[in-house]
Amino acid sequence: MKFIGAHVSAAGGVENAIKNAVSIGANGFALFTKNQRQWKAKPLSEKNITKFKEWMQTHGFSPESVLPHDSYLINLGHPETENRKKSLEAFIEEARRVEILGLKYLNFHPGSHLRKISEEKCLDLISESVNFAIKETESCVFVLETTAGQGSNLGYKFEHLAYIIDKIEDKERIGVCIDTAHIFAAGYDIRTKETYEKTMEEFEKIVGFKYLKGMHINDSKAKFASRVDRHHSLGKGEIGLNAFKFIMQDKRIDNIPLILETIDPEIWKDEIKLLRSFEN
Ligand SMILES: [Zn+2]
Ligand SMILES: [Zn+2]
Repeated sequence: MKFIGAHVSAAGGVENAIKNAVSIGANGFALFTKNQRQWKAKPLSEKNITKFKEWMQTHGFSPESVLPHDSYLINLGHPETENRKKSLEAFIEEARRVEILGLKYLNFHPGSHLRKISEEKCLDLISESVNFAIKETESCVFVLETTAGQGSNLGYKFEHLAYIIDKIEDKERIGVCIDTAHIFAAGYDIRTKETYEKTMEEFEKIVGFKYLKGMHINDSKAKFASRVDRHHSLGKGEIGLNAFKFIMQDKRIDNIPLILETIDPEIWKDEIKLLRSFEN
């Protein structure tokens, strides 16, 4: 079974994300549980929480089919202690929101060294931050996203993710999300059956599919290995449709949310249909 959806809007209340997912024929979805460009958020109201849980049930979404994404402001590997602390506090707050909503995952970008510390030091700080967040929360599984490696963002090599996972004390609480546009821009080709298999074998060897808790399904405006993060609609970018056929037919990728972050929400419904048509 494949959970296919998009990163839908939660404007007007988290529960609206469910409505928006249903309206595009999704059986999985991603959302921000707060404004992703602000540090502070109002606590979720009793009404929001009750409705969210009720609608999850009504529409048959399991916690495993939903991939909440954290705020873009958070940098768990920030070289400056004060700023890192601020990020970590916001991160823990987001994990608590996930838990209150009865969800399971929190998807995040590993962090950026801002050219002030080494990659290794930054990866150490990220691991330390995640270990702390795990202790401060009950059950949330923290899902590291692969990045394109734009600027000083880490996570553009499978080795970065493996390095962090290795340092996490409770391995049940850590996972990985592959973003197809990001890995492609980072230099992992998936355009042909041969390159797709090679990339996935490398992922299995270095990270392991057992840690794969979600995928972001995006085509890329940016060229292969350009280290530039620009999403595109499926089949319209540099990756092309074949890669998405391979994913849809890959049994290693069952039972996790497959989330469109493509640039035209108007065609998400069609993109989901297209992906479904690739399944058999
Ligand atoms: Zn992301
Ligand atoms: Zn993504």
